[in-house]
This record gives sequence, C-alpha cells and structure tokens, in this order.
Amino acid sequence: MSALDSAATAGFAKRFAGEPDGLWSAPGRVNLIGEHTDYNDGFVLPFAIDRRTVIALAARSDRLMRVASSFSDEIVEVSLDGLTPDILAGWSAYPLGVAWALGEFGAPLSTVAGFDVYIVSDVPIGAGLSSSAAIESAIAVALNDVWGLGFDRRTLARVGQLAENRAVGAPTGIMDQSASLLGEKDSAVFLDCRTLESEVVPLGFDAAGLELLIIDTKVSHEHSTGGYASRRASCELGARLLGVDSLRDLGVVDLARAAELLDDETFRRVRHVITENQRVLDTVRTLRESGPSAIGALLDASHTSMRDDFEISVPELDLAVVAARGAGAVGARMTGGGFGGAAIALTPHELIPAVTAAVRSAFADAGFGAPDTFVVRAADGAGREG
Ligand code: ADP
Ligand code: MG
Repeated sequence: MSALDSAATAGFAKRFAGEPDGLWSAPGRVNLIGEHTDYNDGFVLPFAIDRRTVIALAARSDRLMRVASSFSDEIVEVSLDGLTPDILAGWSAYPLGVAWALGEFGAPLSTVAGFDVYIVSDVPIGAGLSSSAAIESAIAVALNDVWGLGFDRRTLARVGQLAENRAVGAPTGIMDQSASLLGEKDSAVFLDCRTLESEVVPLGFDAAGLELLIIDTKVSHEHSTGGYASRRASCELGARLLGVDSLRDLGVVDLARAAELLDDETFRRVRHVITENQRVLDTVRTLRESGPSAIGALLDASHTSMRDDFEISVPELDLAVVAARGAGAVGARMTGGGFGGAAIALTPHELIPAVTAAVRSAFADAGFGAPDTFVVRAADGAGREG
C-alpha cells in the first residue's frame, strides 16, 4: 500500500467511521506539447504523471452522497434525488459533478446507491498539472465499478469534461481527463481533439537518460481567465475569416494567405495554433523515429511561439526556460494555459541538480519568488488500487 492509499483509508475511517469498499486513484497530467490546440480541434501530447489522487469510497444503503477531502474540513452532503449541476459549488462540484454527468451519459441515477468518499492527493493544486482531472477521473472509475456501469475510458473522459464544464463551470477541453484515464507508464497520450481518437506513444525517457523537470513558478495572474477567453475569441475570428470550421483545418501552407487576410494580432494567434499542431505531429514522429533526445528544438519552438505569437507567457516562465536551457536542458517550454503556472525542462538525468540550481539562482537574481521544482515520470492512468 502506498502512503497515499494508507492516508485515504485512515482519513475515511476518521471522517465516516468504518472501512471503504475499495480505493481508486487517478493521476494528474503534464502536457508535453500542444498548447491551446485542444479547443481548435487540434492535437495534444500529454502524459499521466506519478502524482495521484486516491479516493476511498463505500456505497451507502440510502441515496445520500457524502464527500470529504484532506483538502478541507467540511463534509458535503447532497442527495442523488434532485441532483443537478446548478446545486453544486466549490470543490465538491468536481466529485459530485461526475456523479451527475454519469447520469447524462445513461447511468440510472434514479436507482443507484449513494456513497461516502474521502479524497487525498499529492497532485499540486493549480500548478497546471490538473488536480481537477485527477479527482474527476478517480471518482469516474470508482462509480463506474461500484454502480456497475461498464463505460469505457473514453466515455469516462467525456463524463469528467462534462462535469468540469457544467458543474464547475470551467470551459475546458478533453485533454486532461484523457491523459488521466488513458495514460500508460513511460508513454504519452497522442490525442486528436476533433475525433477523440488517441494513441499511446512510448516516450523512452529512461532509456535516453532523460527526466522531465517541472518548474512551478507559483505565479498566477488574475487576467488568466480573460486572457484565455480572448485567445479563444481570436482563434474563432481567424477561423471564420479564413473560411474554416476550426484552425485544425489549416496547415503551414495556409500561413501566407492568413498573413494577407488577418490583422497582425489575429494572424499571430492563428500562426501559433497552426504551427503548434504541426509541432505535435513532428514530436510524435520524432519520438518514434529518433527518440526523445531529438525533440528539444520542438519544445523550444513551442515556447517561443507562445511567448511571441500567442503572448501567454510571463517573465517568470521565460526565465525558467532560458535558465534551464542554459544549464543543459535539451528543450524547455511553458506548459498549460499560460499567464503563470509551470514550465517543463527535458533534462539529462545527471544535470537535474545543475538545472534546478540554475533556475533557482536566476529567480533569486531577478527578485522572483522561489519556484517549486520536481521531476515527474509518465505513469499509468486511473484504476482500482491494489
Ligand atoms: P488544476 O490546474 O490543479 O487542475 P483547477 O483550478 O482546474 O487547477 O482545479 C483545482 C480545484 O480542484 C481546487 O481548487 C479544488 O476545488 C479541486 N480539487 C483538486 N484536488 C482536490 C482535492 N484533493 N480535494 C478536494 N478538491 C480538490
Ligand atoms: Mg484543472
């Protein structure tokens, strides 16, 4: 039993008394490449990480759902009778939203049993590693088992997304849940956000002596919500003016025409998405043909595109990337939605201490707050523990 598993069992006993029926877990994720491509029907390449959310769950004999978390002192109680997304709020909207969303996909919510659930996690919250998808996916696999639903993992990913969109109210794509549910050890999930087809792509970091270092700047900007909305709007405008359903329908051959038709800012937003989609495809091909040591330039180019064309970076992220590369990372980029959060640096194993030290001292010299730095490995997706 892992330490998290023990904490889940002990926490369940303390909050609810008794033993859970079982433990289920789901990982956070990091996006290796493919940023702001998901809502443009494009490509992403995330992987599930070795940081997980574990839940201890027991079915009840009545229709009550009770949720508790190490994250909070409260126990939230909601009945399955009359469950709608509008009555859910706060952190419990993530787990309880999944229960509601399963019903939207055909689970017989009018007859299933209620449950008690206790949640623990070592996925950092708000660091761009999707603690939200981890909690949604863990609940989704648990209820799928306990309620005997038989949904496949792709359906469970859509359930998690629906919960996040409607119960939490965050207009996110399907990438996070897909990575958390479909991930495999030492592999990334290559996802086509239009068809929702996915392929597991071996990363080969171990064999190449590489690690992925996360540099969490701990910066979060208030304008991230507005910034996200305005980037989405630019992408929609660009697609409309260029006569396509989504930017996915365009390739680098269309850039010259885009430059003629669009204002400078919209053009640069469009260029980021078009070139980023191409970089995801190139990364998958390069991983297969040459291995991970050869993808550094693609990671670097992705960062430059987000900094200059999509304009979603911040000085802390730019500095993290420059410092990591200067100390020997083979490639580095900001990851996640931008305006703060984390950068990733693909780094030779033996250079992790040097890269970490270089980033920390660069941050100190610039007067920035100290970042969190840690290595993540590609791990298996959600499932029952033990
Ligand atoms: P992230 O980038 O980590 O996914 P989000 O804002 O999407 O950030 O989701 C974070 C939110 O998810 C938290 O504010 C909380 O409401 C919920 N959450 C995540 N992990 C837990 C947990 N272990 N227990 C309770 N709620 C959690
Ligand atoms: Mg999230």
